[in-house]
Amino acid sequence: MAWDFSTEPEFEEKLRWMDRFVREEVFPLEVLDVDEATFMRLVRSLQARVKEQGLWAAHLPPELGGQGFGQVKLGLMHEIDGMSPWAPIVFGNQAPDSGNSEVLALYGTPEQKERWLYPLLDGRIRSGFSMTEPMHAGSDPTVMSTTAVLEGDEWVLNGHKWFTSNGMIADFLIVMAVTDPDAAPHRRASMFIVPTDTPGVRRLRNIPTMAGGHERFGYGHSEIVYEDVRIPRANLIGEVGQGFTIAQMRLGPGRIHHCMRWLGQARRAFDMLCERALQREAFGAPLAAQETVQNWIADSAAEMQAARLMTLHAAWMIDRYGSAAARKEISLIKFYGAKVLHDVIDRAIQVHGSWGYSSDLPLEEMYRHARAARLYDGPDEVHRQSVARRILHDYQAPEGWLPREHIPTRREEARRRFAELLDQATANL
Ligand SMILES: Cc1cc2nc3c(=O)[nH]c(=O)nc-3n(C[C@H](O)[C@H](O)[C@H](O)COP(=O)(O)OP(=O)(O)OC[C@H]3O[C@@H](n4cnc5c(N)ncnc54)[C@H](O)[C@@H]3O)c2cc1C
Repeated sequence: MAWDFSTEPEFEEKLRWMDRFVREEVFPLEVLDVDEATFMRLVRSLQARVKEQGLWAAHLPPELGGQGFGQVKLGLMHEIDGMSPWAPIVFGNQAPDSGNSEVLALYGTPEQKERWLYPLLDGRIRSGFSMTEPMHAGSDPTVMSTTAVLEGDEWVLNGHKWFTSNGMIADFLIVMAVTDPDAAPHRRASMFIVPTDTPGVRRLRNIPTMAGGHERFGYGHSEIVYEDVRIPRANLIGEVGQGFTIAQMRLGPGRIHHCMRWLGQARRAFDMLCERALQREAFGAPLAAQETVQNWIADSAAEMQAARLMTLHAAWMIDRYGSAAARKEISLIKFYGAKVLHDVIDRAIQVHGSWGYSSDLPLEEMYRHARAARLYDGPDEVHRQSVARRILHDYQAPEGWLPREHIPTRREEARRRFAELLDQATANL
């Protein structure tokens, strides 16, 4: 009997340190009006303290250059650093660098690790992941126009990508491109390391989004054209045609890391909801006395608890059986968690009235970010569909036209099964 919801006291202590540190040191970063150089100086000083605590880049196992906490502990940590949009960079596990470092750690050659992974883990360079294209449905990335052709000792890339997060500030991009258009859909593409200073990498713009002001300092989602971009043959990651296998591995844990951070965001909004409900009076009583507000609090608490358990369960599945075995659980929490995050922030805005809508409070920004959660790493609909397909795979249509549970039919069968006993019972009357 191995069910267990407890955390070792030593790790609890680390979580307490993180919680204090994020609230006291990282929250203030959100409201400082400084230039990027000053901001990064502040971030670096906080990163040094995280490294001293042994909490840096916790998403990777030690043999791959990280701290080796595993996904469940990581879930508990991300729940804390998800409270602030700036905490992940302070803890060295911000997207998309965290997913990219996993790709390089698992599939990179020793030379690729030396040149790109270790500096990335150290926070000295930044990266982007360039897969989605404007002219094709990102939900179905097997259809893609970007190509990579081998010419001598070089790969030549041509294509048009967008929504490459952090593309403008990245030192290198991991680019997905078609290498064999005639192969089976999931064997068509490969992944490449493209340094951003390679001739032909044209970073057109950061696409303005709902996130708005937060995407300052060049953080944002860029549109990039790759025009006759020549990279060494050695910049292929893994094997030719392995792009989707690697993407699946990258997006599995990557998705759940987002879900873990959403728990922290939702918690922060929930705290604001409860505090305001107690503070604000209307019609002679605090808002907390209104049944509607009580319902919001109770519904939010139940949904957050469900999301937390689903997230930690998916994390446990990954730790125990690997991310491929946890695909259903990851998809479940990806769409469910995004909705919980959205709904809790929405209720927190509502209880604050017009103040909730204003940028005097962080809720409107949280709300704008939460909207994207239903799109990135696969839209809700695709994850729902994937969950439903996996579930249906374990079912069969009952024979004939009657539902299996049809009560008159079952009653007849039950009478037949117990006929002898029923007869005896009647005879004894
Ligand atoms: C903030 C943000 C950051 C991102 N970062 C990156 C990044 O770093 N790198 C990168 O490569 N991409 C990135 N993306 C792109 C993201 O992965 C895609 O937007 C996503 O995969 C959806 O693709 P699409 O936008 O082309 O929408 P489409 O594929 O055109 O889908 C549009 C809509 O169609 C509907 N739909 C699609 N499939 C189905 C279905 N099977 N059933 C029912 N309805 C369906 C859904 O409602 C969906 O929203 C990012 C996006 C956002 C918003």
